[in-house]
Amino acid sequence: MHEYSAVEQIVKIALHTAAEHQAGKVIAVSIAIGELTGFAEESLQFYFDIMKKDTPLIDTVLNIRYIAPRLKCSRCGHVFEREGRSFDCPECGGKSAPTGTGTEFFIENIEIETDE
Ligand SMILES: [Zn+2]
Repeated sequence: MHEYSAVEQIVKIALHTAAEHQAGKVIAVSIAIGELTGFAEESLQFYFDIMKKDTPLIDTVLNIRYIAPRLKCSRCGHVFEREGRSFDCPECGGKSAPTGTGTEFFIENIEIETDE
């Protein structure tokens, strides 16, 4: 999945949420992304700016939070954040494997403003 289709999903969900709550305005959409997705912040912002035109999201801000990948040592079980490209366990020097952390992609929060 690339940034384009990812942003398409975000916009769709944000519009749906806004309609559901009869929101006058969507102030901000906050998303969380694992670094392992390889999604670039500039690309996400770029597509978001294009897609929000001509929609009620025209003034909406996109907030992006990155989640560092975590690795688990196959020798001692230590779980740690990956530093650079190394897969070596900082505790025992053993080889580690990726955990699910770092591959996330989800909406954390949609901030809406209602007319009342
Ligand atoms: Zn270890």
